[in-house]
Amino acid sequence: QPITTDMATLTHDVQKFAKEKKIEIEMLKVREEYRREFLGNVSHELKTPLFTVQGYLSTLLDGAMNDKTIRKKYLERAEKGVERLINIVKDLDMISKLETGDLNLNFTRFNIVDVIQNVFDLLEMKADQKSIMLMFDMKYTKPIYVYADQEKIEQVLTNLIMNSVKYGKEKGTTEVSIENLTNSKIIVRITDNGEGIQSQYIPRLFERFFRVDKSGARSEGGSGLGLSIVKHIIEAHNEKIYVESKYGFGSEFSFTLEKAK
Ligand code: ADP
Repeated sequence: QPITTDMATLTHDVQKFAKEKKIEIEMLKVREEYRREFLGNVSHELKTPLFTVQGYLSTLLDGAMNDKTIRKKYLERAEKGVERLINIVKDLDMISKLETGDLNLNFTRFNIVDVIQNVFDLLEMKADQKSIMLMFDMKYTKPIYVYADQEKIEQVLTNLIMNSVKYGKEKGTTEVSIENLTNSKIIVRITDNGEGIQSQYIPRLFERFFRVDKSGARSEGGSGLGLSIVKHIIEAHNEKIYVESKYGFGSEFSFTLEKAK
């Protein structure tokens, strides 16, 4: 019995086992780090609007309540803060559902042109405030039927068009267009001529809580969750999302969808 061979096999097995365990431990560490970072981000995001609301309410209770105009102004600001909190919690809820796979997509056949029109109606006021023109190529007066989860795609369009308005320049434009990609797919493009994104940030755009300019984006009321929700929804549909941007000139986000028969 050549004992050396057995020893060699044993050593090999032990080493293999140790290596596997090491990888497992590394993975757990990464996950733990990720979880810690996520919690840190969440509490940080919630803190800002919470302190804002608290600040306005305390000032009101300290006497500002007696002045009618200040009272209205502060209550409105406190309400804005609460609205922002609700939006963050809604985004978090959506993210957690998307990440745990609890989100069931409800596929139906619908006309995407109508959905784009709905989103335009919803965001018209916000666009008007910056004199941004929302455009949709008029050649699409005909319906375009797709097969997807309508509510989720409406959310995708809302987030992308909202961003183009938020990061768009005064008197700028946001254009939505649709093109046939293949016999069975279309591509939807959302193009703006806003501030654009520097190339080094592009790979990180879809990360949770990522923002190019923390202070600037915060004044726009973003939580940095919008694009990660968009990516999750598109990937859950087994579709693709793309971004192209030229710093100082504008950005284009596009995604594919399946045509309905
Ligand atoms: P936020 O809530 O901050 O808007 P998003 O996940 O939607 O979060 O976007 C992440 C970051 O990507 C934004 O903070 C912004 O810096 C950048 N960004 C997204 N869309 C655009 C755009 N159309 N033009 C320029 N920058 C954009």
